[in-house]
Amino acid sequence: MSSKALVWVRDDFRINNNDALIYATNNHDVVTAVFIFNNEIFDNKREAQKWWLSKSLESFSSDLEKLNIGLEIIKDDEVNFFSKLKTSNKISVYWNKVYEPAEFDKDKKIGKDLSEKKINFKFFKGNVLNEYNKITKNDGTPFKVFSPFWRNAEQFYMERLPDKINKVKKCKKIEILFKKQIKSEDILPKSKWYMKFDKYWAPSESKAHECLENFVNKNILNYGINRDFPSIDGTSKLSPYIRNGQINVRDIWEKCKKLKSNNVGVKKYTNEIGWREFSHSLINYFPQMLKGNLRKEFDNFPWVNNSKFLNAWKRGMTGYPIVDAGMRELYETGWMHNRIRMVVGSFLVKHLRINWKEGEKYFRNCLLDFNEANNVAQWQWVAGCGADAAPYFRIFNPILQGEKFDKQGEYVKRWVPELEKVPSKFIHKPWEMEIKYQEAINTFIGSDYPMPIVIHEKARNDALNAFQSIKKKN
Ligand SMILES: Cc1cc2nc3c(=O)[nH]c(=O)nc-3n(C[C@H](O)[C@H](O)[C@H](O)COP(=O)(O)OP(=O)(O)OC[C@H]3O[C@@H](n4cnc5c(N)ncnc54)[C@H](O)[C@@H]3O)c2cc1C
Repeated sequence: MSSKALVWVRDDFRINNNDALIYATNNHDVVTAVFIFNNEIFDNKREAQKWWLSKSLESFSSDLEKLNIGLEIIKDDEVNFFSKLKTSNKISVYWNKVYEPAEFDKDKKIGKDLSEKKINFKFFKGNVLNEYNKITKNDGTPFKVFSPFWRNAEQFYMERLPDKINKVKKCKKIEILFKKQIKSEDILPKSKWYMKFDKYWAPSESKAHECLENFVNKNILNYGINRDFPSIDGTSKLSPYIRNGQINVRDIWEKCKKLKSNNVGVKKYTNEIGWREFSHSLINYFPQMLKGNLRKEFDNFPWVNNSKFLNAWKRGMTGYPIVDAGMRELYETGWMHNRIRMVVGSFLVKHLRINWKEGEKYFRNCLLDFNEANNVAQWQWVAGCGADAAPYFRIFNPILQGEKFDKQGEYVKRWVPELEKVPSKFIHKPWEMEIKYQEAINTFIGSDYPMPIVIHEKARNDALNAFQSIKKKN
């Protein structure tokens, strides 16, 4: 075996529990990590994530340096990059899997190319509990319903052979391998929009563990209740760290299992990790859902093309405070609370009848935690056209959702400050305030804040009729 190794870093910016890195450092004297920035994947598609990526590369590079491992950033297409690697480089290549069909495709092409060149390579389990193809029904077909999937998946995980406890070893020295490197700053999005994210996030492995520690010590036992209230810090906010592999979900699972196993909060939390596993299984078994509806009857759904409404939704100017607060939280912080993701998603596909793909695309560009599996599966869940989805006829009422989960309007007032003086009675339906009242608080609905762009009852009936029309065709 060669004395040098190359570790291809993708969604795994961590030292702990990183199988490719552990293997490389335990078997080679000199290890170099490489991140290949393929701008085709990111430009105008995943702009917010460029910020997270750039900051992650910075922190990961300094963590690796302490172990005498260099991190080199190359701008290229991944397959093209490896095609230039020569047998004479005398280097072994390692990476962790990424559970997306397009990434598996790359693995195949790169693996074939390296094999032909007789370059030693090996890939490892990525950031999941189980390999998705290990979890099937008794007849070998994939699950399409979450509960039996997770019952099986969790059981399978608990009964696995214990993981070998290996750690990353310090290497002999740093060696520079590639001449044409770029800097982590070169990845930052061009627009200044990303600068705000600094206020809210610190992308690094140590921050991910601190975040988990805090959540487990303070919030997890109440997660079952608090997770639905967007004004409370009731969820872990680990999603961008998990997405970028700053923490391994196996570490999260282990930590949770050490707690009171019967507690509803702990159970619900590990269930959410289960939903992530489920989404990864779905997109790999049914890759067609990355392009369109999993339930084909939705191909006939009469979606509406309305750029004015779509823009109002994106800008948080629909006139429904809970929807607008969510969309503004997303734009400001690169993250949105799960309950509110469901509310804004439902509003887009049901009240406005705009195709879920528009929402998916916008979230992909703005979310720091965007991942193909969760985003596509969840948008189809909201739209009713996915696996184990919310039925289309169940339409969230944005006024009632607001009154139930943000009773005093604290969340709304945080993100829609023009409604600051509106009393809680009207905070989710400010258009019902009498003009006298609007004058008294100097807040005018229709000028300071928009009137609703659609009327809830009518939008609801139109959505139900549209749904009936596809049922008749099938
Ligand atoms: C329309 C829509 C789009 C979404 N897009 C994404 C996305 O691109 N990336 C993403 O990670 N999540 C997505 N989600 C799921 C969920 O909203 C986020 O994972 C969650 O809000 C992240 O916050 P948290 O880390 O505090 O979650 P917690 O409640 O603390 O949950 C812990 C972890 O479990 C996973 N998780 C939680 N809820 C879900 C879920 N419903 N489905 C799958 N995994 C889940 C995440 O990895 C999360 O970090 C989407 C949900 C909806 C309704």
